[in-house]
Amino acid sequence: MSGVVDLRSDTVTRPTPAMREAMARAELGDDVFGDDPTVNALQQRIAALLGKEAALFLPSGTQSNLAGLMSHCGRGDEYLVGQGAHCYRYEGGGAAVLGSVQPQPLAHQPDGTLALADIEAAIKPDDQHFARTRLLALENTLGGRVLPMPYLAEATALARRHGLATHLDGARLFNAAVALASTDGGDARAQAKAMASHFDSVSVCFSKGLGAPVGSALVGSAELIARAHRLRKMLGGGMRQAGGLAAAALHALEHHVDRLAEDHALAARLADGLRGIAGLQVQSAQTNIVFVQVQDGRGPALLEHLRKQGVLATGLIGLRFVTHLDVDRAGIERAIAAVRGFFEER
Ligand SMILES: *Cc1c(COP(=O)(O)O)cnc(C)c1O
Repeated sequence: MSGVVDLRSDTVTRPTPAMREAMARAELGDDVFGDDPTVNALQQRIAALLGKEAALFLPSGTQSNLAGLMSHCGRGDEYLVGQGAHCYRYEGGGAAVLGSVQPQPLAHQPDGTLALADIEAAIKPDDQHFARTRLLALENTLGGRVLPMPYLAEATALARRHGLATHLDGARLFNAAVALASTDGGDARAQAKAMASHFDSVSVCFSKGLGAPVGSALVGSAELIARAHRLRKMLGGGMRQAGGLAAAALHALEHHVDRLAEDHALAARLADGLRGIAGLQVQSAQTNIVFVQVQDGRGPALLEHLRKQGVLATGLIGLRFVTHLDVDRAGIERAIAAVRGFFEER
């Protein structure tokens, strides 16, 4: 790790010494019997933080989304979802494969939202020809962009008027909340709770910007979470003495939420430093992700150049740089210098 500036994802973080200590100290029990006090504490904490009755700790965001989708939708139902949404595009088609749930993907607007008119037009009438439209699934942040609170309110109100349930993939919910707090005021926890209030279920990852090694939670009503609990068993089972992992997530909720603002500032600095380099088109960073379009098919060569300089990113034509707990200002300046070096070499 040392010497390498790893900007591939905010999932690459190692637990901090304080987090490891919290993990080592965690009280444990068999969670399949409901006996792990640390898992129970985490579930109560995240449910309360997001203003819901109940929560379920799951090993991944993928499993959390899948249990969420399958809690809302049965065989022959469908969910409306963005073309670029993780739970449609990047989760192996799990809802279709394991849930017999049909996705109805919709094109995103340039700001990442789904047009209300498109949502409304995609809701199928009650007719034998159609799958039953049951759910609207949104994502925030989406590719690092923040969907505004008024949009979330309107889109979910529209869904409810048509009898649809609503799910938010909030893998980076707290990044969105910190960004909303900085633009709209209020504190990040209040923003996260306000966001969750619009949805029947929310999935949140502890393993992304929050810096825990493993784990996600699904929150919702007690009834929905009871269904998800049964589904978690079907989707791979429970995790037994999972309290060590839950302790990491609790530590992250306590200590790593407000500091996400630092990741956002570093991403903004990275975007600024890359802007103006001929051959690059830089998207401004709203949270901790910077997308860069590389012209003339030079993306793979740039990635390779960066790798040799000890700077890691992902992508091909569009490169992605993600800031997190384990990168600092010096690392970001190194990344900027390495990109500049590539374009000055030619
Ligand atoms: C990472 C991510 C997930 C899935 O999380 P895993 O823990 O990697 O399965 C779901 N949704 C979004 C938006 C993500 O970024």
